Amino acid sequence: MISKKTLITRDNFDKLILPFYNPVSFIPVKGKGSRIWDQDGKEYIDFSGGIAVTSLGHCHSLLNKALKKQSKMLWHVSNFFTNEPTLKLAKKLTSFSFASKVFFANSGAEANEAAFKLARYYSCKRYNLKKNKIISFYNSFHGRTFFTVSVGGQSKYSDSFGPKPSGIIHASFNDINTVKNLINEHVCAIVVELIQGEGGIIPATKSFIKELRLLCNQHNIILIFDEIQTGIGRTGKLFSYEHYGVTPDILTLAKSLGGGFPISAMLATDEIASVIKVGIHGTTYGGNPLACAIAESVIDIVNTEKVLSGVEKKFKQIVFELNIINKHFNIFEEIRGRGLLIGIVLKSKYSYKIREILKFSFLEGVIFLTAGNNVIRLAPSLIISKIDIIEGMKRFHRALERCLF
Ligand SMILES: *Cc1c(COP(=O)(O)O)cnc(C)c1O
Repeated sequence: MISKKTLITRDNFDKLILPFYNPVSFIPVKGKGSRIWDQDGKEYIDFSGGIAVTSLGHCHSLLNKALKKQSKMLWHVSNFFTNEPTLKLAKKLTSFSFASKVFFANSGAEANEAAFKLARYYSCKRYNLKKNKIISFYNSFHGRTFFTVSVGGQSKYSDSFGPKPSGIIHASFNDINTVKNLINEHVCAIVVELIQGEGGIIPATKSFIKELRLLCNQHNIILIFDEIQTGIGRTGKLFSYEHYGVTPDILTLAKSLGGGFPISAMLATDEIASVIKVGIHGTTYGGNPLACAIAESVIDIVNTEKVLSGVEKKFKQIVFELNIINKHFNIFEEIRGRGLLIGIVLKSKYSYKIREILKFSFLEGVIFLTAGNNVIRLAPSLIISKIDIIEGMKRFHRALERCLF
């Protein structure tokens, strides 16, 4: 028998796992709230939130309860059937949003894949086969299937895989004139992140989103909001579009929706839904009862005044602490983002240090992510405590001291 202790090492990752990733050297084994423990029992404060996924921290008691309850009822039946958790979750997502109907899948990329296919299908059926171009934005991220990664605006992720899907064009984010220049009768959809997440925590301006909506209305174009990173309370509203006073025709969700359990959703209006016929798209696991039961519990907890207004308070507290740190070190160019999706932009002369800053932060017991190439990203639990924020920032201060001096 292979002993567990010798098997679970970073070296064995290199031996056993295809090298798409380069994980950090410690291996988390336990989490509670915003704290994580590694194999050696060392404790960390988690500002990464599993990349904006563990929206209620680790092992939240009510999510555990929902998981346990559903696990004794029914795990999986496939879409040959419908099921109770699917319908209950869909009811909540539609009653709290612009949408009338929902499609469930398992990951962000799958929700976007469905959205892009549906946008083209709709335009093909409503207008003509030539109305099939999708406009997206440079620096955007929409997932890693070949269609979604090609729609994404970072060619480093889509190059070297052979011919790309066609009919995709890119405009400049927050620059409406570049969009206007690309518009013609062949455009069927515009897809946009309300905050470019992977691209470096860059919020869309209100006027940009409003103008996109107007353009879409004028030219019969479907507006898709990719809220996979910004949705489900992340910015202090259940959906980030609520900050903009604009609704999309299609919206995609994943990450925070499952609180750590894989699930995604595509929300759409009745008009978009009207062209759909049985069998034109599908997935085996979508609407899985276990996933939906957990997501319903996530929404019940997040969609409360207490949690949503808490997000704004925690944003202010974190920015306050970061400003104090920056008074000391003077290395941040800007702190940007909204709610608990925060980007610390490093001054250009320090950007080469970003990996080291993260490494020293791990050593001090605090976990951050990166976004773009010079942004430290924070996407913690929406209910991270004041104590954890203060302690985390203390550790960050110590990490910077070790890294910079
Ligand atoms: C993470 C992310 C995706 C992809 O989600 P996966 O679950 O990794 O497929 C798509 N769009 C945005 C905005 C994201 O942040």
